[in-house]
Amino acid sequence: MGFPQQRFRRFRRTGRLREMVRETTLDPGDFIAPLFVKEGLARPVEIDAMPGQHQHTVGSLVESCGALAELGVPAVMLFGIPAHKDAEGSSAWDPNGIVQEALRAVRAELGDGLVLVADLCLCEYTDHGHCGVVRGRAVDNDATLDAYARIAVSYAEAGADWVGPSGMMDGQVGAVRRALDAGGHSEVTVLAYAAKYASAFYGPFRQAAESRPQFGDRRGYQLDPGNADEAVREVKADIDEGADIVMVKPALPYLDVLGRVKAAFGVPTAAYQVSGEYAMLKAASARGWLQEEPAMLEVLLAIRRAGADLILTYFARDAAERLRRG
Ligand SMILES: [Zn+2]
Repeated sequence: MGFPQQRFRRFRRTGRLREMVRETTLDPGDFIAPLFVKEGLARPVEIDAMPGQHQHTVGSLVESCGALAELGVPAVMLFGIPAHKDAEGSSAWDPNGIVQEALRAVRAELGDGLVLVADLCLCEYTDHGHCGVVRGRAVDNDATLDAYARIAVSYAEAGADWVGPSGMMDGQVGAVRRALDAGGHSEVTVLAYAAKYASAFYGPFRQAAESRPQFGDRRGYQLDPGNADEAVREVKADIDEGADIVMVKPALPYLDVLGRVKAAFGVPTAAYQVSGEYAMLKAASARGWLQEEPAMLEVLLAIRRAGADLILTYFARDAAERLRRG
């Protein structure tokens, strides 16, 4: 059967009809909001390249979390910026570290009203800005795993519901899972940054998290942008090591990878719409070159359509407000 019996425009005549046959929808419940919290800050500081996003004090972080929960956003992902950095990144597993303190403060205020996810890496905590233990000019994979295990247990003890190992070390999910289980935290979920690419879109984040590498770059551990088969193998390895949720990062330039991962494994899948993706929409909108709201919603919908169950996005609050308005 073809034209004229078949007419696709029948469903496109009105908004109501289009909604009835829409295959993918967006809901505030799909979002996880990444938030930055900085030790020793007197008041929140807006991040220059990420308009509307801030380095938070613990107090302003708690307020933001409350607003997100009220809008129906179910989870936040915390990134900490410590007052003290050293070669090891020892502030990351300090029981009184900034993320640990923030986890306790948000929990005290909101109880179980929000799922608390702690990003787990060393780049914000090391003076060299790399994601692991550096030997010479390279990151030592296996030595780094021991540090990740310590951090995971420390975050769990401070109340994290999920931890998100993001350093792209081989074996990191297994190391974190074993440490959590051994520490009596078998209920803590592992959100694995499974396919994290060495991307040019992370620039604004490094300003936000003060985590720019002081030498070299991260291509020695993050995925090469040309590789998709390898991403599928990375994801499989993380699932085999005990990942509960797998993530593809960035989102928009890697929708093909996201689609393949969801089709191949059918496990809960997240996508991280990164700082550069946020910044480019904000910048174009500020110049009047794009309309911010429809562009934001279209990109988020596309990420869902490609296979994401959950989206980490700096638009979480704006998009949730917009969706609430209907
Ligand atoms: Zn890192």
